[in-house]
Amino acid sequence: MRSVLVRGGRIVDPSQSLDKTGDLLIVDGKIEAISDEIGRMEETIELDARGQIVTPGLIDVHVHFREPGGEHKETIETGVRAAVAGGITAVCTMPNTDPVTDDPAGIRFVLAQAEKAAGARVYPLGAISKNQEGKSLAAIGEMVEAGAVGITDDGNPVMNGGLMRMAMEYAKAFGIPVADHPEDLDLSRAGTMNESLNSTRMGLLGKPNISEDIQIIRDLLLSELTDSRVHIQHVSTAYGVEMIRQAKSRGVQVTAEATPHHLILTDSEVDGYNTNAKMNPPLRSSEDRDAVVQGFSDGTLCVYATDHAPHHYDEKEQTFADAPNGIVGLETSLGIGLTCLVGQGVVDLSTLVDRMSCAPARAFNLPGGTLKRGGIGDVTIIDPNVIWSVNSNEFMSKSRNTPFEGLKLKGRASKTIVDGKIVWNGL
Ligand SMILES: [Zn+2]
Repeated sequence: MRSVLVRGGRIVDPSQSLDKTGDLLIVDGKIEAISDEIGRMEETIELDARGQIVTPGLIDVHVHFREPGGEHKETIETGVRAAVAGGITAVCTMPNTDPVTDDPAGIRFVLAQAEKAAGARVYPLGAISKNQEGKSLAAIGEMVEAGAVGITDDGNPVMNGGLMRMAMEYAKAFGIPVADHPEDLDLSRAGTMNESLNSTRMGLLGKPNISEDIQIIRDLLLSELTDSRVHIQHVSTAYGVEMIRQAKSRGVQVTAEATPHHLILTDSEVDGYNTNAKMNPPLRSSEDRDAVVQGFSDGTLCVYATDHAPHHYDEKEQTFADAPNGIVGLETSLGIGLTCLVGQGVVDLSTLVDRMSCAPARAFNLPGGTLKRGGIGDVTIIDPNVIWSVNSNEFMSKSRNTPFEGLKLKGRASKTIVDGKIVWNGL
């Protein structure tokens, strides 16, 4: 028997509307009990969590681990280390690897590498289309059988509405959601930042909001038509948020993400051609940012996900137009959530935990997202008072591409427990 007793923490579990001080016992990788006080037991690791917050393990449903094919940026091993250092106990990996993860062998490879790495749990998403070319469907059923929890062509949006409709019908048959990177490539052209006065001033080609809006609308309608589940990734526009809100109110089965960067940054961050402010979708106007915040707060965007996108230093050192999209996020998302969202009164702590654990688990049918008895023994322990500054040199990730370097944050994961094992002991 293998037991961990977490003593005296503030246990916050929105899945059972719980917020109280007490003890939590994990036995053989399962939640065994929550009680005011649990007696001393033999052969049990005791963790003192007084003054700390104890939550169901945090889940990030949008990460890029670059393996196979981009191991100089991140491997599954360094990715799951970065995750647990950030208090994240489970991640969903995107299939835009090289080769693309579009068949059961690809899914099995990701799972095997994750098993060896023994950090955060890894739930792979498979591609929607073969080689993410948007021409014909990938082997969806076989990938689900091998362990895929969803499908997406993230990074290479599906331009063909007929193919997307078919993907949703297949996904429905296999009980998984389609995760949707909504972008019309003809409208976004070779844009490298938000289309705005800022892009004109900087002489950069912009991506207009409508390139995102139009695909959000298409895929909400397709989800409604096929009565299937769609998960809209990294929503960045005010109109997109409103369309999702309206679709939800008429019963469309939609879940949606807000990223830390779209919640707190705007396109003014691109000033000085800062390539760590280059991502897709781009940082947008303050009106868009405010709408994303509102959507996050009212639950329209019910999932907080990073779109962790590691890139090598040299790649981000290129000119703004040539540099790749994306930033790392796994080791800063919790601190940003606690400091810039809870700390600023955007959401309360329980809502943040819901957006980081319960809602992501529900969106992708993952185990976890709860501390109910019998649930998996994935737990995050947070020191809410520790003050720290983002220092990318200390990242467990292989990559350093963050726009948050030097940002002072309050609150951080002190311990991360996966399957009843302490996989991160930070403080
Ligand atoms: Zn994307």
